[in-house]
Amino acid sequence: MSDRIVDNPDLFWAKMRRNGECLEWQGDHTMRGYGVLRGPNRTRIYTHRHTYALHHGSVPSTAVVRHTCDNPPCCNPAHLIEGTQRENIHDAVHRGRLARGERSGTRVLTDDKAREIYARAARGESYRSIAADHGVSDVAVLQIAHGRAWGHVTGGTPLQTTRRLTETEQADIVSMFKQGFTFKQIRAHTGRSYVSIRHALKLHGIVLPPGRRSPTQKV
Ligand SMILES: [Zn+2]
Repeated sequence: MSDRIVDNPDLFWAKMRRNGECLEWQGDHTMRGYGVLRGPNRTRIYTHRHTYALHHGSVPSTAVVRHTCDNPPCCNPAHLIEGTQRENIHDAVHRGRLARGERSGTRVLTDDKAREIYARAARGESYRSIAADHGVSDVAVLQIAHGRAWGHVTGGTPLQTTRRLTETEQADIVSMFKQGFTFKQIRAHTGRSYVSIRHALKLHGIVLPPGRRSPTQKV
């Protein structure tokens, strides 16, 4: 049996931890909390998609695997269903994951902590490390950095961050764009600026005229 996790289900399942009904991946995560593992040729594979593929055969590349439990790291096959990207975003918006709510962890913060998080994000520290220090999610840090949470203490000005786009983020952006989502929708989903979205597309050979922010929009 291969010693690569992607090829060895025993190793894959060994990296799960039960949390209630959920089985949570304990390895690497995206900024939004989805588990990822290394695939062939330096690709990255979402662990919930890998789980779905293990249980149902291959997953169509256009389909999105959704969580019925709304818990991104969860890999319990019983909590995973196929859907479209649109449904996935609808779920996230509907359940408040993209906006605010208890999953963002902002309720454990104080004014002072929110100020410190904002200041550290402004210095360009990674959201992941700031989140770890404060015991909150990456998304909570992103919301503060973007002025969407705790704006009453930070001033609410969105920071111009220079965090590099991960390969997974780039793939998400390109995939959404090709499916016809506008920059505004992609921004709402990824938390990335228009400039970053344009940059990600350019890295993948998609160069748009200035001002154009969707595949179909006329300039
Ligand atoms: Zn679950």
